[in-house]
Amino acid sequence: MPRAMSCLFCSIAAGKIPAERVLENAHAFAFLDIQPLARGHTLVVPKRHAVRVEELAAEDVAALFDLAKRCARRLGEGLGAAGVTWGINDGRAAGQEVQHVHVHLVPRHEGDGGAPIHKLFEPVDLAEGELPEIGARLRG
Ligand code: AMP
Ligand code: ZN
Repeated sequence: MPRAMSCLFCSIAAGKIPAERVLENAHAFAFLDIQPLARGHTLVVPKRHAVRVEELAAEDVAALFDLAKRCARRLGEGLGAAGVTWGINDGRAAGQEVQHVHVHLVPRHEGDGGAPIHKLFEPVDLAEGELPEIGARLRG
């Protein structure tokens, strides 16, 4: 599906809803988050509608990652970010509110008070033998 009529990010892609656009390429574009976690918080979005990452065509994955890489570089060069937290909320259970794939790029500075993403949860206590069991399930 190229575009979903009721999708917010498809509407931004089509220019029907305004956004502070920054960079784009053939298959992806980037704009500033309207409720930023830091100055320069950027969303990088495939132009073709897809809800989940696993639905993306290979060329959209490549374009999305390449554009995100360029945006991350600009956060350093243009805003002086010392690092970038990359994030995708992939699925409602993961906190995805807008049902169109997007990569969050949050510029980071030393001592900014933000957390690394592996502090989203406390580590899980695994039972004996659970790690290889999980590995086997993932290998299929
Ligand atoms: P997520 O929870 O990963 O789906 O994040 C959706 C993000 O979209 C949030 O960070 C919102 O602040 C952002 N957002 C929602 N509406 C707009 C909009 N019109 N323009 C820019 N960003 C938006
Ligand atoms: Zn969409």
